[in-house]
Order: sequence, then structure tokens, then C-alpha cells
Amino acid sequence: MFDLSSFPRVRLAHLPTPLEPMDRVSQHLGGPRLWIKRDDCTGLSTGGNKVRKLEFVLADAMAAKADTVVTAGARQSNHSRQTAAAAARLGLKCHLLLWNMTGSSERTYLQNGNVLLDRLHSATIHELSGEGATDPLTYLNGEVDKLTQQLREQGVRPYAIPVGASTPKGALGYAECARELILQSKELGLKIDAVVHRSGSAGTQAGLVAGFAVASAQIPVIGIGGGKAPKELEELVFSMASDTASLLGKPSAVRRSAVMATDPIPVEYGRLTREVADVIRLFARTEGVLIDPVYTGPALVGLLELIREGKFARDSNVVFIHTGGTASLFSYVDGLAGIR
Ligand SMILES: *Cc1c(COP(=O)(O)O)cnc(C)c1O
Repeated sequence: MFDLSSFPRVRLAHLPTPLEPMDRVSQHLGGPRLWIKRDDCTGLSTGGNKVRKLEFVLADAMAAKADTVVTAGARQSNHSRQTAAAAARLGLKCHLLLWNMTGSSERTYLQNGNVLLDRLHSATIHELSGEGATDPLTYLNGEVDKLTQQLREQGVRPYAIPVGASTPKGALGYAECARELILQSKELGLKIDAVVHRSGSAGTQAGLVAGFAVASAQIPVIGIGGGKAPKELEELVFSMASDTASLLGKPSAVRRSAVMATDPIPVEYGRLTREVADVIRLFARTEGVLIDPVYTGPALVGLLELIREGKFARDSNVVFIHTGGTASLFSYVDGLAGIR
């Protein structure tokens, strides 16, 4: 097993997060046995997956003597909210570049949920028009670099955090999650047949894949993607996972075939479809677990489809990593009320 103690890190997350069975929903589906890794419970400002990555990325910002961090995302970006909270905790100023990709004009979408929390954490919000955007990740990271440069010219000491804090250092946070899963499965006497989670900017999946590979654990990771074509996402994850494995001292540990992304039922980013609303209600009703409309909702719609297609044996153990997003639920009041 690898060890992360030599990497600079600021402690922000409540770890390890619980790994729990979801018996009622598993019974409802007729198998496989579903488990949930509660990364929605990482603690910081309603939690989520970015906190793990920010522990390593912000250690780098502190070492660089930054006084300000800059990052970007969609209007209801969970990453931006977790960055704003972490910056507050570390005494750093925070600039957020937010893009209303959905084009929604609903007040709750524009002001509630993550945006309410961004403001409470006293982040400075800049609105992006999306003009000239082709690929969202490239566009948003370009805007982060532009604002960082402007702030530097004003005498600020800014630190640029790419979308999702997805860098090889950030991905170490998910190598840590892989380590937790290996230890927890040993404690529970559990053989994990697959780990499934929502993938976006690649850092979460890259860290998991690198962590399992470096620990020589044969646990398949399936990233359910949104936005990018699955093959394109796989390439991004593979490259970042290889860099993460290098940081861990095993540069060739990750095999290309270990990187799997799929998107069986694509959902437009931020769009609350009937299938997503149904899955939110299913998990709320059977497990008391809150699923979010933007990331974990569409990911679970995809996972239920994979189950329907017979991808997993009935008696297999499938771990769903709950990557968070709870706060954005509160920005979809009207949408959820409209889909009954
Ligand atoms: C950011 C995010 C993801 C995707 O994680 P990446 O590391 O960007 O791939 C998944 N779920 C939620 C709730 C998120 O906020």
C-alpha cells in the first residue's frame, strides 16, 4: 500500500468517509448489492468530492505564499463553493468565475444553493458570458488564467485552481479515497466488484484509478461521464492518472484498459429530466440519501441502466461514490415541484 504522508497537505475533510450498504434500494432493484461511499459527507460547507483534492492543491497555494485563489465553474458549481469555503478556512481571498451554462433565469437557480454559500463564504463572484466557448473545460480554465494574470498585475498574489481542482496533485485526494476503500473493504470482509461514480473534469477518476493501480488492487472503476464523449474523457483520465501514479512513484502502474468511462443515458448539463427527478426521489424514499440533480442524479440514471443491461452479477458488490452536490438540490425547487 502507498502512503501519502510525504505530500504537503492541509486538512479540510472529515476522513475516512463512511462506506455503507444500501439494502433497501438494492432490494428494490433486485440486485446487485449496492454500497455507498459517503463523499457527500466530507464536511466542508455541505461536503463533496472537491474537498479531498483541495487538501493537496491548497497546500501548494500556501507554499507559494498566495493570498488569493481563483477558480471557475458553472453557476451552481460545487467545486467553486468548496473552494470558497476552504479559502475562508485558510484566510485566503477567493475569486469565482461562474458561467450560467443552463441559461436558466429562475431566481432559485441563480441565487440559492451553491451561490448562497459562495456569498456567505465571502467569495467575489464574476459572471461569465460563455462567449467564444467551445469546450467548457478549456474555456473556463482560460478565464481562470486571464483573471489570475490581471490580479497579479494589480499586485495580488493569486493562485489559479483549474476547474474541479483536477490536477495530478489534486487527484492524490482520490488516491487517498482508493486507499480508504481498500482498508474498509478488508475490515468488512467485502469483495468490491466495481466502483462507479460521476466523472467530470477527470481528477476523481484519475485518483481512484491511480490509487488502485499503485496498490495493485484489481477493482474496476467506471466513470459515468457528462459532456465529453466517453473516449475523450478516458484519454483525459488516463493522462492524469498516469501523472498521479508518477507522483506516487510508479509511473507505469496505470494501464489504459483500466480507464473506463461510459454515458449510457446522456443528460444535458444541469437539465433536470424526469429520469433524474425519479432517481432523486427513489434514493430519498428508500435510503434517506440526498442525490443531486446535476452530477450524482444523472450518474445514477446511468448506473441503473447498466444494471438493467445486466452489466453486474446479481450477487456482486457495487460501490457508488456519492461525490456530493447536495447544496445544488436547493436551487432546483421549481424544477422538482414541476416533475411529479
Ligand atoms: C465535480 C463533481 C463531480 C466530478 O468530479 P471530477 O473530479 O470533476 O471528475 C462529480 N460529482 C459532483 C457532485 C461534483 O461536484
